[in-house]
Amino acid sequence: MRTHRTAVAAAMAAAALTLSACGGGSEGSSEAGATPTDASEFEAGSTMATLAEAGTIKIGTKFDQPGFGEKGLSGSPEGFDVKIGEYVAGKLGIEPDAITWVEAESAQREDLIANGDVDMIAATYTINDKRKERVGFAGPYYVAGQQIMVNKDNDAIKGPEDLAANPDQKICSVTGSTPAETIREYLAAPDQLVEFGGYDDCVTAMGTGQVAATTTDNVILLGYVSDEPDKFKLVGKQFTEEPYGIGYPKGDTAFCEFINEALTEASEDGSYEEAWTSTAGKAEGAETPELPTLEDCG
Ligand code: GLU
Repeated sequence: MRTHRTAVAAAMAAAALTLSACGGGSEGSSEAGATPTDASEFEAGSTMATLAEAGTIKIGTKFDQPGFGEKGLSGSPEGFDVKIGEYVAGKLGIEPDAITWVEAESAQREDLIANGDVDMIAATYTINDKRKERVGFAGPYYVAGQQIMVNKDNDAIKGPEDLAANPDQKICSVTGSTPAETIREYLAAPDQLVEFGGYDDCVTAMGTGQVAATTTDNVILLGYVSDEPDKFKLVGKQFTEEPYGIGYPKGDTAFCEFINEALTEASEDGSYEEAWTSTAGKAEGAETPELPTLEDCG
């Protein structure tokens, strides 16, 4: 499994190099990634000025999710979330190699932001009211939906409604994720859900027979199916909406507006689409999205 994934990662890395030569730099820049920027363009004391001045940024992302944030041969994570993070950093004059990537497991994200361990997070991070109590969200930059993945030979589970009737078939998800919460209402008993820290562990548990299924966002599952189409399949329709936001420290409205502006520019200059097609969009069945309507920062 790793070998194939690594080969995909290598191909993605090659595509990313090509992309960075033409993406990100608007306003006539031919430099890789960033628009020429200096800190004086931003209001003194703002997060943007501080980051631009420092020339570096800490961004949280996933390290084990194919297509969105996955560490490949390069040692740096690669994927759609990574590309989005790089684009925003580029608008601060920060080159991709000056970004510090921090692993942001689902359950750790609010803490990482609130503790100042990261400046922002792009990590398949669903915007919701509970999380908004602790962090702010720019975006959304993508809307996913929860679905279920089973082993190819499983005919018992065709959607969430089949879980209660098959109490022996355990389903896996990730602690602190929205899908782990949502799936609870479909279970025969609470212990039908097995939780791990990351989705890779769920996929491994499907291989050993410890669990029969994994549930999370459709596009994350598509990455696993695309890696191993002979082993896994998606079943049923998506049964939630998961709008992905960029998490930032609660209350920093100017930073939120800056990120939203960067997202809008990325969609206008083609970088958004390129970011998708060179990463998550490579999975079979992944449709190229348009940037959703952004939420107000206020
Ligand atoms: N989008 C969902 C969430 O934010 C699931 C994916 C994840 O765990 O990152 O909880």
